[in-house]
Amino acid sequence: MRVYNFSAGPSMMPQAVLETVQKNFLDYNGSGMSVTEFSHRSKWYEEIHYGFMQLLRELMDIPEDYDIVLMGGGASTQFEAIPLNLLGEKAQAEYIVSGNFSNKAYKFAKKYGDINLVYSAEDNNFTTLRDFKRDEFRQDSAYLHITGNNTIYGLAYDEIPDCGIPIAVDLSSSILGQKYNVKDFGLIYAGAQKNIAPAGVTIVIVRKDMLKPMDQCPKMLNYSTHIEKDNMFNTPPVFPIYMGYENLKYMKAQGGVDAYDKINHEKAKLLYDFIDNSKLYTNNVNPKYRSIMNVPFVTPTKDLDAQFVKEAAENGLVNVKGHKLVGGMRASIYNGMPLEGVKALIEFMKKFELENK
Ligand SMILES: *Cc1c(COP(=O)(O)O)cnc(C)c1O
Repeated sequence: MRVYNFSAGPSMMPQAVLETVQKNFLDYNGSGMSVTEFSHRSKWYEEIHYGFMQLLRELMDIPEDYDIVLMGGGASTQFEAIPLNLLGEKAQAEYIVSGNFSNKAYKFAKKYGDINLVYSAEDNNFTTLRDFKRDEFRQDSAYLHITGNNTIYGLAYDEIPDCGIPIAVDLSSSILGQKYNVKDFGLIYAGAQKNIAPAGVTIVIVRKDMLKPMDQCPKMLNYSTHIEKDNMFNTPPVFPIYMGYENLKYMKAQGGVDAYDKINHEKAKLLYDFIDNSKLYTNNVNPKYRSIMNVPFVTPTKDLDAQFVKEAAENGLVNVKGHKLVGGMRASIYNGMPLEGVKALIEFMKKFELENK
């Protein structure tokens, strides 16, 4: 039996996509081979590879002056790849820390240059962001790094900071789940395993004029190495790219990012409204900066939280346990989570509240 899986990542994929992949697994498109077996130089793989990049361009409306890089190593590898590719000789950048992953990105970047921490939400336990003014950012820095959606604390920007310099944004947990304008950024990156495909491929979308690699940038981390060979410099992560391809085709058929933006806002609103009106559950993130992808909440006690997680799982609502840094619960409601899953969670929360008031 399939369950509703609220995991923050790897996370739920649409059943229709899983079924397509299963159907094609033993004999892909008359090749007599699985996608994991034929050459990445074969015509079958080429169709998948270029098809994936083309669909990504279409769904996100990526302009011509941006390149797509497909790499391994997860989003975490980009914490170093970004300074190594963008800092240039001056080696100066701005960072905002809005959660655990942006904190890591900041710490990794500090190894490579003069990094200015403009703001950290650590002082308020990652419950709020704020508005920013241009003069807070050094205007001769290569970029500002932000995390668009903070997966662990459920904290997200309500609007992109107007900082006067190019922005490099981590969209690992919100890419294709809400509407972004690619032109607002100099670079976008995302691991696949929250909203696109199994772990193993990381997507980087970078404006061509951003590329100013440092001398010490390793060849395999240098974006140009991959761009020059259409991401075929070496064997790409073929299976995650294939599953991503099937998922992007599915997303397009559902109406693309506009449709997901709408339904995901709806899903999140249902859940936040319920939490805010309940006496048992709380979410203490400033409503202006609440994530629509990851919804953390707590009951009044740790014991009750543990009981909630256990009973939810017995009811087919799994992986609602919060991140170990935060405790409590967290419902990750990415594109793969249907509206019915969120409704089922709310029904369970109602029942649990009645039984435990
Ligand atoms: C999950 C996540 C990461 C880490 O991704 P890996 O692929 O595990 O390295 C980084 N940033 C954000 C915002 C995430 O949600």
